[in-house]
Amino acid sequence: MAEKILVVADVKGGKLRKSSFEVTAQASRIAAGLSSEVTALVIGKGMEGAAGELAGYGAAEVLVAGGDVFDSYSSGAYTRAVLEACKQVSPKVIFLPASALGRDIASAVAAGLGAGMASDCTACEVKDGKIELVRPIYAGKAYITFTLDADVQVITLRPNVFAPGEPDVSRSVDVTSLEVGPDEKDQRAKVVEIIKGASEKPDLTEADIIVSGGRGMKGPEHWPVIEALADALDAVLGASRAVVDSGWRPHSEQVGQTGKTVSPGLYVAVGISGAIQHLAGMRTSRCIVAINKDPEAPIFKIADYGIVGDLFDVVPVLTEAVKGLEE
Ligand SMILES: Cc1cc2nc3c(=O)[nH]c(=O)nc-3n(C[C@H](O)[C@H](O)[C@H](O)COP(=O)(O)OP(=O)(O)OC[C@H]3O[C@@H](n4cnc5c(N)ncnc54)[C@H](O)[C@@H]3O)c2cc1C
Repeated sequence: MAEKILVVADVKGGKLRKSSFEVTAQASRIAAGLSSEVTALVIGKGMEGAAGELAGYGAAEVLVAGGDVFDSYSSGAYTRAVLEACKQVSPKVIFLPASALGRDIASAVAAGLGAGMASDCTACEVKDGKIELVRPIYAGKAYITFTLDADVQVITLRPNVFAPGEPDVSRSVDVTSLEVGPDEKDQRAKVVEIIKGASEKPDLTEADIIVSGGRGMKGPEHWPVIEALADALDAVLGASRAVVDSGWRPHSEQVGQTGKTVSPGLYVAVGISGAIQHLAGMRTSRCIVAINKDPEAPIFKIADYGIVGDLFDVVPVLTEAVKGLEE
C-alpha cells in the first residue's frame, strides 16, 4: 500500500460543502490509480455525523477536529489541524478544494510540510505512477499540464469542475476525533463578525447556473430583468466588476480575477463585454451564453451560444421561453 492521501473537507453552516464531495471523489480516483487510500479531515464542531457522508465518496477513514478552538474560523488553527492530521496520517498528497478555505490555508500547509504545491487545478489524473495536473495560467488564457517534483504535494482543485458522482450509501467509515488545542498565535487574527448574504441560494462558486449582469444593464433599477431570468433558471446572480465598482451590486457577486472564480454548468453573461479579467473568473464554465448588442464584444469569442441584441428585448423573451419549458 502506497502512502495515504489526505483530503481536507470544507464546511459551511455545520454542513459539508459540495466541493468536499468533489475533492473526496477525485482524491479517491487518484488513490485507486496509486493503490492508495483516502483519509478525510473535517474541521468544525459537531461534524462527526456529517463526516461519515464522505465515506460514500470514497474516504476510507475520517478524522474530525471539533474542539473549542474551531468555534469560529481562524487560519492558524485550521492550518494546525491539517498539519496535526498529517503527523498522524503521513500523507504524500493533500487535496483541498480551491475554495476560500483552500485558498487561505493551502500554502501555509505546504510551507509547514516543506511540500510542493499546485493551486486551482482543473484536471488531475494518474499517469505513469505520477499525478498529472492541469491549471489555468495567464488569467485563464492558457492551460499548463505538469507534475510536481516533490515528495509531498499539496493540491487544490477548482470547485464545480470534478463531478462527485453518486455516493455509495452502503459504505461506512470509522470517524476518529483529532485533538487540536489552542495556540496563542491563532489570536493574531480573529473573526469578529460574519455578515450573511441576503440570498438563500448557494454560493456563486458552487452554483450550477449563474446569470451575470454587466454595465450594459445601465443601472441597479434594471436588475429585476435578470432576476426574473435567474428565478426561471433557478440560477444564482453574478456581476462584472464595473457593476460592483458602481455600487449597483455587492462585491460578493463579482466574478473575475479580483472576484470569484466560478465553473457552473451554465453561465449567462448579460451586457458584459468579456474583458480578460472577467473571463479569468468564468471561462471554465461548461456552457457560456452571451447576450450583447455589440457583435464584436470579446465575450462572443468564448461563448458557446451568442445572442446579438438589446438585452432589454432579449432577456424577457428568454425568461418567458424558459418558463414555458417548465410548464
Ligand atoms: C486589475 C484588474 C482587475 C479586474 N478584475 C475584474 C474582475 O474580477 N471582474 C470583472 O468583471 N472585471 C474586472 N476588471 C475590470 C475589467 O477590465 C472590465 O472593466 C470589466 O469587466 C467591464 O465590465 P462590463 O463588461 O460590465 O462593462 P463594459 O466593458 O462597459 O461592457 C458593457 C457591455 O454591455 C454591452 N451593452 C450595453 N448596453 C447593452 C444593451 N442594452 N443590451 C446588450 N448589451 C449591451 C456593451 O456592448 C458592452 O459590451 C478588472 C480590471 C483590472 C485592471
